[in-house]
Amino acid sequence: MKKQKVVIIGAGPAGLTTGYELLKDEDKKYEVVILEETEEIGGISKTINYKGNRMDIGGHRFFSKNNEVMEFWEELMPLQGKDSFDDKKLHRHKKLKKGGVRSRDRKQCNAS
Ligand SMILES: Cc1cc2nc3c(=O)[nH]c(=O)nc-3n(C[C@H](O)[C@H](O)[C@H](O)COP(=O)(O)OP(=O)(O)OC[C@H]3O[C@@H](n4cnc5c(N)ncnc54)[C@H](O)[C@@H]3O)c2cc1C
Repeated sequence: MKKQKVVIIGAGPAGLTTGYELLKDEDKKYEVVILEETEEIGGISKTINYKGNRMDIGGHRFFSKNNEVMEFWEELMPLQGKDSFDDKKLHRHKKLKKGGVRSRDRKQCNAS
C-alpha cells in the first residue's frame, strides 16, 4: 500500500505529537516529515544546554484540563518514578509511583 505523505511544519510539541500520533496508526499508512526552521526541536518548550546546565526556556510541566491530553503525556513520559537529583540533594522525600505520575499531581495539573 502506498503511504500517504504528511508534511508537518514546526517541531514544537504540537508538530511532534501530531507526527507521533500519525506514526502510531495501526495500518502504518502515513509517512511523516517534520520541517523545523531552527537547529533544534521542542519549540518554546525546548531544553537548552548552557555551559553544562540544562534549562527549560518555556514549558517545563504539562498541564491541561483535558484528560485525553494528560493521558497522552502520561503515556509518553511517565512522571517521577524515583527521586530526582534535586530531591536527593535537598533531602526531599516524595511519595513515588513506580514509573508513573502521582494522582495528587494529576489533580494539581487539572486544576491549573
Ligand atoms: C515561559 C513559558 C512557560 C511555559 N510553561 C508551560 C508549562 O509549564 N506547561 C505547559 O504545558 N506549557 C507551558 N508553556 C506553553 C508551551 O510552551 C506552548 O504551549 C507549546 O510550546 C506550544 O507548542 P507548539 O508546538 O504549538 O508551538 P512552539 O513551541 O512555538 O513550536 C513551534 C515550532 O515551529 C517552528 N516553526 C515556526 N514556523 C516555522 C516555519 N515556517 N517552518 C519551520 N518551522 C517553523 C518553530 O521554530 C518551533 O520549533 C510555556 C510557555 C512559555 C513561553
